[in-house]
Amino acid sequence: TRNMYTLAEKNHKSLIDSLKDRGIIDDDDVYETMLQVDRGKYIKEKPYVDMPVYISHGVTISSPHMHALSLKRLMDVLKPGSRAMDVGSGSGYITVCMAMRTKVLENKDSFVIGLERVKDVANFSIENIRRDKPELLHLDNFKIIHKNIYQVSEQEKEQLGLFDAIHVGASASELPEILIDLLAENGKLIIPLDEGYTQVLYEITKNNGKIVKDRLFEVCFVNLKKN
Ligand code: SAH
Repeated sequence: TRNMYTLAEKNHKSLIDSLKDRGIIDDDDVYETMLQVDRGKYIKEKPYVDMPVYISHGVTISSPHMHALSLKRLMDVLKPGSRAMDVGSGSGYITVCMAMRTKVLENKDSFVIGLERVKDVANFSIENIRRDKPELLHLDNFKIIHKNIYQVSEQEKEQLGLFDAIHVGASASELPEILIDLLAENGKLIIPLDEGYTQVLYEITKNNGKIVKDRLFEVCFVNLKKN
């Protein structure tokens, strides 16, 4: 039986099972996806505790429950052949979940890219992926790049194309125009936005060119930096 008084688990499987027991993971696809990506490969310190963990440069790997809740919202736009972007990819955890779910290894139409503002952190995620799933690093349809989302040029925007799924792992003061432009028709964007002293997670969809904003719940992320 499970000890209900601690959030520390002994391995990745028991971490994911505890999220399921707590009702945070109530979706088989999220369960299967997260089970394939061992958090212990993405952070050394206390990987199996449901808490954010400091990486470096003022950034953290988000908590497992936050990864689960964000992935759940994106499941319907992450399929084999989907194009997905992770903005502020940090440890690389969600980026790799996107890669597993879209099956980038087998499906050449799938495309997954992580954008990370801090070069050291981008390199850290590449080391994590080398440890966990080195085969991803040889693909043309999987990339981690050192880039600030606010500094994507018009030309780079053209080259990137449009995305079915965009996840932002840092809170923005306002919805960045560039992300609306990068969103494909019927695509979905998950982004935390500052609201006064708190942050709220938003789900943004594009239907017939029309933008629909869905306010989800309060969250706590690091800030999406302008430069
Ligand atoms: N999902 C990631 C979250 C990391 S924290 C994880 O769980 O590991 C958020 C990340 O966003 C940080 O690594 C930070 O450097 C990055 N970031 C902040 N502002 C950014 C910007 N404007 N463009 C790209 N990345 C940014």
